[in-house]
Amino acid sequence: MKLDVNVLRYLSKDDFRVLTAVEMGMRNHEIVPAELIERIASLRHGGTYKVLKNLLKHKLLHHDSSKYDGFRLTYLGYDFLAIKTLVNRGVFSSVGRQIGVGKESDIFEVANEDGTIMAMKLHRLGRTSFRAVKSKRDYLKHRSSFSWLYLSRLAALKEFAFMKALQEHGFPVPNAVDCNRHCVIMSLVQGYPFVQVKQLQNPETVFEKIIGIVVRLAEHGLIHCDFNEFNIMIDDDEKITIIDFPQMVSVSHRNAEMYFDRDVECIIKFFSKRFNLSFEANADDSDSDVESDAVKPRFSSIKKASGFLDKELYASGFSRKEQDDIEKFTEKIHGSDDEEIEDDEETEDDEDHDSSKLNALDIQNFDTLCSLTKDEDDEQSGDIGDVVEDQ
Ligand code: ADP
Ligand code: MG
Repeated sequence: MKLDVNVLRYLSKDDFRVLTAVEMGMRNHEIVPAELIERIASLRHGGTYKVLKNLLKHKLLHHDSSKYDGFRLTYLGYDFLAIKTLVNRGVFSSVGRQIGVGKESDIFEVANEDGTIMAMKLHRLGRTSFRAVKSKRDYLKHRSSFSWLYLSRLAALKEFAFMKALQEHGFPVPNAVDCNRHCVIMSLVQGYPFVQVKQLQNPETVFEKIIGIVVRLAEHGLIHCDFNEFNIMIDDDEKITIIDFPQMVSVSHRNAEMYFDRDVECIIKFFSKRFNLSFEANADDSDSDVESDAVKPRFSSIKKASGFLDKELYASGFSRKEQDDIEKFTEKIHGSDDEEIEDDEETEDDEDHDSSKLNALDIQNFDTLCSLTKDEDDEQSGDIGDVVEDQ
């Protein structure tokens, strides 16, 4: 998806005020009536309709007049609101190139005033829905556009909370910097997605390290649920970093064992295909059971902690309902019937994860958004600006 932040730079305070008014209206309207937008925005000098036209032109809003004259945010509109909030907070001041396209996200480089480059992940839940199998489509059809924004926001919040907690517990994950709406800012991982790696100096050691992480996660009460070569980054020193956490579940989840086994199987399959590692237990070896347990850990024999997930999520302001909502979505999308679309997606992901984009960083290509930071003294933004912050 194209993210032309140049447009963002030239949007006025009124533009943002109206965009925020649409967002607020979407809390209880799928399509927000134009009059309601006008009332919420209450521009000092009027002109809401002209502003709406401008936002529409830049594809920040979608116009719908099938039932009444109304508008809703597009993902781009939602992106701009999140980016503006984070720029106002001083988290970053420029946006660079796109470095990743996940199944349900877009990842860009961003830089702060010191020139530190970070990764910005914009969640886009439901993007692949139409290519998914029928059961998923049926579930997804009933989600309104507000739900997409809502679910993407939950995914971001959950990912941020987990990244922070995992880091505090010594797991190799990016550093969680900040989060707003559907957007997570984290440190940039130096390295490549594991799927691009054709050769390793020490495949056995790397395998052990990776399986060790799956086991240690379970010991902390967690299962990654999408643990595969696309969500593992590796650098030239074969140092591993794990990414992509919105679908993680607790070891007390009713399908926990299935998810755990699937994560383990994914890694085993990848290592045996790509690096020719053999995982067959030797039939003559009396210790074979012990050995195969080390290679393929059993869920039942792991000493698991409980409550980690709940504790960390609640600490980040997640309610039980929000947790259920995102889990329901994850189960439908990353559930047990993924095979039907797997091949299709693998080809696409292979093309998308281009490591050269990660290495050849050119700060000149960053679009500076500093002009946005000057808004803090905008006296009119007080009443509705607060809402922008607490989304
Ligand atoms: P999705 O949930 O959509 O799969 P991911 O979090 O897996 O999204 O990110 C998609 C891709 O973006 C990754 O495979 C990786 O190439 C890149 N990426 C994500 N986070 C980072 C990061 N912190 N540093 C560098 N690259 C990243
Ligand atoms: Mg991923």
